[in-house]
Amino acid sequence: MANILIIYTGGTIGMVADPVTGALKPLDFSELENEIPALKQLGVEISHYEDFQPIDSSDVTPADWVGLAEVIARNHDSYDGFVVLHGTDTMAWTASALSFMLDGLAKPVVFTGSQIPIGVLRTDGRENLVTAVEIAAATPVVPEVSIYFQNRLFRANRTTKWSAEQLNAFTSENHPPLAEVGVTIHYNREHILGSGRNFHLRTGLCSDVALLRLFPGMRREVMEATLGVEGLRGVVLQTFGAGNTPTAGWFFDVLERAIAGGIVVLNVTQCIAGGVSPLYESGVELSRLGVVSGRDMTLEAAMTKLMWVLGRNLPHNETVRLLETPLRGEMS
Ligand code: ASP
Repeated sequence: MANILIIYTGGTIGMVADPVTGALKPLDFSELENEIPALKQLGVEISHYEDFQPIDSSDVTPADWVGLAEVIARNHDSYDGFVVLHGTDTMAWTASALSFMLDGLAKPVVFTGSQIPIGVLRTDGRENLVTAVEIAAATPVVPEVSIYFQNRLFRANRTTKWSAEQLNAFTSENHPPLAEVGVTIHYNREHILGSGRNFHLRTGLCSDVALLRLFPGMRREVMEATLGVEGLRGVVLQTFGAGNTPTAGWFFDVLERAIAGGIVVLNVTQCIAGGVSPLYESGVELSRLGVVSGRDMTLEAAMTKLMWVLGRNLPHNETVRLLETPLRGEMS
């Protein structure tokens, strides 16, 4: 019998409405388990880790990512798989960060949550949790950090929350689902990473990073203020379309100065599908300045990868090489 560790961190999946105020409040895990009796019928030995104070995922910080990764690393050899219950709002961020920190992962780490609280009759949390446990316990093993939501299992670092309303809240536009769930669970084996060897935890995330999302009419001062933050070491530049930017001279000057000052600039697209490539004049200029291409990475993967790579304090060339190299299947 497979043994699975469920780690409860908070989010809508564990919420019920306070009978007095109507505000949503978190349940403790034993109540959550009682809400889903089917969990006990899966033929899986379930343990739970509930030392985290359940929080809304908008409050999650990189320190929480590290704490979660440490729990999984400590238990990696004792369980067949892990299910992490997490708020949907920043689930793709946490799961992407973990995909980098859990190096050589050999066990499934399946994130799930819900759009409708577990205490509500029409909740999507019940199916999400039951199937996530089934996948975490299954053969073939999916030895990746993944997100299971509404019938599809995605590679975590390819996933984005695209809808605040739909029950299929997540999408992975640049990589096919790892599994699709209908009457049976169909695993797309050719898209699943091979099992890692020599598992080890690599934490050390650099928080001296920023996101600069372009918009038409952005003032030079806005860009200078962002890139001028003291101690800044890296920035994700979210460009238009296939990696395009304004072609004004000042724009490239500000960027060039930042790069000369040692700031690593990683370019990803604002589009939800596709990636950046130096097709147009501005894209070619970015490459000339030393802007690193994030290709088809999601914003969540790009930011967390940048934090993780910078956290290793490597020489500049090596930092750039790692950013350009697919490490956990996060880019094509
Ligand atoms: N605000 C909640 C959270 O991310 C939303 C959810 O879980 O769906 O924690």
